Amino acid sequence: MEKNKEKYMREAIRLSLDKMRAGYGGPFGAVVVRNGEIIAYGFNQVLASNDPTAHAEVDAIRKACATLQTYHLSDCELYTSCEPCPMCFGAIYWARIRKVYYGNTKQDAAAVGFDDNFIYEELKKPRQECRIAMEQLLPEEAIVAFEEWSKNPHKSEY
Ligand SMILES: [Zn+2]
Repeated sequence: MEKNKEKYMREAIRLSLDKMRAGYGGPFGAVVVRNGEIIAYGFNQVLASNDPTAHAEVDAIRKACATLQTYHLSDCELYTSCEPCPMCFGAIYWARIRKVYYGNTKQDAAAVGFDDNFIYEELKKPRQECRIAMEQLLPEEAIVAFEEWSKNPHKSEY
C-alpha cells in the first residue's frame, strides 16, 4: 500500500512537470484514486484556458465525477503535487473526498510566487472588511428560490 501511495503521488508530480513544461499553467498536478485505480488526471490549465479556476485538484475532481457520474467522491483519495489552495480545499470538501495526500506545502508554493495565504486571511474577516467589496442586495427576492427549494419534496439533497 505504501508503495502505491508513492506511485500515485509520482503521477501527480509527473503531471505537474509535464503540463507546466507544455505551457498549460503553473506546476501543479493531481490524480483521483478509487479502489487502487487512478480514475482521473488533473493539471493546472489557468494559462492555456484563461480560467483562473482551472487548478489541478478542481480539474481532477471534475473529471472523476464525470467518469463516475456522481457529485460525491467519498470512496476516493486525492493525490496532489501541492497542498490545496482555499478554492481547491473547498472543492475537496464539496466532493467529500476521503483523504488527501500532498507533495509540496503552501509555504513551498508561496516561495515560488503562488501565495494563497491572503485568501485564508480574508476568509477570517467580516465580509464588509474584505479586500474585494461584498454587499448584500435584494435578499427578499433572492430568498424565493431557497423557499421553493426547501419546500420541494423531490429535491436531491447533497
Ligand atoms: Zn487550487
